[in-house]
Amino acid sequence: MAYTLACKDSGTNCPYVARGETEEEVLQDGAKHVKEVHGYTDEQINDPKFLEESRKLIRKT
Ligand SMILES: [Zn+2]
Repeated sequence: MAYTLACKDSGTNCPYVARGETEEEVLQDGAKHVKEVHGYTDEQINDPKFLEESRKLIRKT
C-alpha cells in the first residue's frame, strides 16, 4: 500500500508523482517537489489551504 499525489492533478503539465508510505510522507515529498521545481516558498507550502487541497489529491494505491 502506498500513497501517491500526481502533480498534474493540481493543474500543471508536470509528470511528477510524489510517493510515500503515509499521507504525511507523500505530502512532504510533494512539498519538496513544488519547492524545487515550481519555486514555491515555505509560506505557500505551509498554508493550511494548500495542504488541504493537496490532501484531496492523494490517492491510495
Ligand atoms: Zn510538479
